[in-house]
Amino acid sequence: MQSSSSYFLHLFVAVALAGAATMHVSAPVAPPPLLGSLRLEGSLSFDEGDLSAAARDFGNRRRLLPAAVVRPASAADVAATVRNVFRQQGAARSGALTVAALGHGHSLNGQAQAAGGVVLRMESLAAGGGMSRAVVRPGAEAEAYVDASGGALWIDVLRESLKQGMAPRSWTDYLHLTVGGTLSNAGVSGQAFRHGPQISNVLQLEVVTGKGEVMNCSDKENADLFHAVLGGLGQFGIITRARIALEPAPKMVKWIRVLYSDFRSFMEDQEMLTSSMESFDYVEGFVIINRTGILNSWRSSFDPQDPVRASKFDSGGRVLFCLEMAKNFNREELESKNNNQVEQLLSKLRYIPSTLFQSEVSYLEFLDRVHVSELKLRSMGLWEIPHPWLNLFVPRSRIHDFAREVFGKILKDNSNGPILLYPLNRIKWDNRTSAVIPDEEIFYLVAFLSSAPSQGSLEQALKLNTEVLEFCNRAGIRMKQYLPHYSTQEEWRAHFGDQWGRFSRRKEIYDPLNILAPGQRIFHKAGVQYSSSTWQ
Ligand code: FAD
Repeated sequence: MQSSSSYFLHLFVAVALAGAATMHVSAPVAPPPLLGSLRLEGSLSFDEGDLSAAARDFGNRRRLLPAAVVRPASAADVAATVRNVFRQQGAARSGALTVAALGHGHSLNGQAQAAGGVVLRMESLAAGGGMSRAVVRPGAEAEAYVDASGGALWIDVLRESLKQGMAPRSWTDYLHLTVGGTLSNAGVSGQAFRHGPQISNVLQLEVVTGKGEVMNCSDKENADLFHAVLGGLGQFGIITRARIALEPAPKMVKWIRVLYSDFRSFMEDQEMLTSSMESFDYVEGFVIINRTGILNSWRSSFDPQDPVRASKFDSGGRVLFCLEMAKNFNREELESKNNNQVEQLLSKLRYIPSTLFQSEVSYLEFLDRVHVSELKLRSMGLWEIPHPWLNLFVPRSRIHDFAREVFGKILKDNSNGPILLYPLNRIKWDNRTSAVIPDEEIFYLVAFLSSAPSQGSLEQALKLNTEVLEFCNRAGIRMKQYLPHYSTQEEWRAHFGDQWGRFSRRKEIYDPLNILAPGQRIFHKAGVQYSSSTWQ
């Protein structure tokens, strides 16, 4: 821990720096007693390097310097930090300090940052694994679970569960994200059509509220807090532990890609697969605009079923739609049965026959597939660059209108990054949680995952994002943003729609002084002036 004079200096520098770009916080005349008097098992830092690192995220577009960084070693450390801030500000009825839980920093717009506040680096909670052994009672696999720290990475949750032959049921495409970070959003991937998002697969949480209380919650105990926190954008509490449901893990995965040029067939086939019990275990889709040689790029990981015809395939500049599917299997017992099932399912689909590509990989390799791309991009210096991503949930009734206008018209190519498009079933989402989704039984995740290696490409991607949003507005497409980002409370109210009343009531109950997750910019803190210029 640093001395209080050193704290004062760093707080001043941090606030001055943060204030220059983002907000004005009156400089304290003496070190706030709260942080100086904090007794932690973990550590408290005012080091410039730590402050600067806590002001970075995957989006690489926001830099909000905190005043302090806490590395908690326990839920008690998290609670002590929040309680100190709450007590001091409660007594004073004002104060600018906020607290942000920082997972792996994969937010896009500073959502895990706290200008002039305290950042809790949640990964230090998970030091040493942050996990109980997966609990599997013989004969009761359906009730198996693992208790994971809120700061644990999903890849570590998977590795720990696999030791018992089990795995979580619902995933994100990329596993180097934290449990607390994805559960604060939703956590969606190609398994969500069957199992719902990750927030539908949580049995229990340990949470530190905005008053600094440690509370256990579940469907049965403190149920309102439980549902508030799931998809709650960090607004109601900090997840220090999550009990995650498990299923028996397969050993292998048959991984398949096919192409369509007709959007209707692509969409109907996706929906056929995602509405049936007898289906693949994973279903996603991509949009490919103006990319020649797409099949060639698959050859390093997939085998074409018909290499000769595949080599003659010419996209002809068309917009193409890739359906990606996976079927889990265990080599010893199920290979032939699995192949029959896969063939039967494929026989019902209307893809371009020459574009069938397949591969067999271990379950771990399949789930951790995006990490391979990460390593490549890092080696080329293309990971830590701006990522102006836009993620939307588009209602099924308007997905055609959306596709017709956006793919090929607004977006003339997707050389800056993948575009995902796949259906999700509302019935698998619990409407008591804070997650916001369109009001239709089926809606599509449409994710524009752009990278911007230059200023020009950043401006171009942001312009296209704006055009897509403006088109939705004009056309009356009632989509919802996923991983949402807004600048004003009016926009947040519109985002939540009917749920705004419940969301703000929950805020009053669990974080009445608006201490938590200020980077989401939903509730403003008394005494803090935000500059809108940094948040366009
Ligand atoms: P952070 O970005 O650090 O935090 C996110 C928010 O949650 C912040 O507001 C933060 O204050 C809050 N928070 C963090 N930890 C806690 C906690 N313990 N308790 C309470 N609040 C907390 N998402 C999907 O759903 N599906 C995908 O397939 C998917 N793929 C992705 C691939 C990549 C390469 C990247 C970069 C992101 C992807 N995401 C995906 C988005 C991801 O879910 C979000 O970035 C999310 O924020 C998780 O990142 P994180 O753990 O680093 O959390």
